[in-house]
Amino acid sequence: MIVSVASGKGGTGKTTISINIALSIGNLKFIDTDVEEPNAHIFLKPDFQETHKVETLYPEIDYNKCTFCGECAKACAFNALAVANKKVLVFKELCHGCGLCSYVCPEKAIAEIGRHVGIVRHGKALRGIDFWDGLLNLGEATPVPTIKELKRYALKDYNKERDLVLIDSPPGTSCPVIESIRDSDYAILVTEPTPYGLADLKLMVEVIRDFKIPFGVVINKANLGDRGIYTYLQDENIELIGEIPFDKKGAELYSKGIPLYDVDGFKEGFENIIRKVEDLGRK
Ligand code: SF4
Ligand code: SF4
Repeated sequence: MIVSVASGKGGTGKTTISINIALSIGNLKFIDTDVEEPNAHIFLKPDFQETHKVETLYPEIDYNKCTFCGECAKACAFNALAVANKKVLVFKELCHGCGLCSYVCPEKAIAEIGRHVGIVRHGKALRGIDFWDGLLNLGEATPVPTIKELKRYALKDYNKERDLVLIDSPPGTSCPVIESIRDSDYAILVTEPTPYGLADLKLMVEVIRDFKIPFGVVINKANLGDRGIYTYLQDENIELIGEIPFDKKGAELYSKGIPLYDVDGFKEGFENIIRKVEDLGRK
């Protein structure tokens, strides 16, 4: 079963929830897909044994064939090409490697060349966790190819009946999140009981519903804030699968890189979330 942990914005405690669920359960596969700012490794302490280079394709123009017709630039949805003054300008960092320009070129003047954009890392972490994450090279416009490769490596021997996989998604509701959560059997949406938390949760719920992924909500810092989220969940008939209270001692430990799961009373809360998810996934 693949379970994604996502949130409509950063700072809701999404990674806190993911790593503590992982540590409470142990012996699962954990994939940190926030390749722009991976931080789960700080808490799960993997011993990285394996790295893979991630490459994406970008167009190279053969000027012996190019007629400067501009069809390639017209087709590119990412503005990665421009044709001017008998030149085809390629903005590599904007290129998503989709290959459309080479497909539409009437002169077959475009070859696709590999370019290094990031890495994928793998190792054994605390509590027998099979840990995977990725690192995007600085200056790259899109993390999507690195997330795709990370998932391809991490899930190559995945068996739905046998494996529990936890994916820590990047924050937000754009392409990297969608790449991260697609193919999930369930999504845990993490939010906080504040008006901002509610607004971002609503956006995330729209995305998840579009993808028809079953989901439930975990409210972090549940003892702070207001009741707006609870009313929304009730009105929308959305399952509340967990509440994690704010705890001063827990926050202090967390700021030192010590996870919450072995603080009195928390372990059970995190275990209950994933048990509930597994039960919901079997329905
Ligand atoms: S589509 Fe092909 S021929 Fe036309 S400008 Fe682009 S590379 Fe040149
Ligand atoms: S490969 Fe796709 S994104 Fe890259 S330049 Fe060509 S059309 Fe644009």
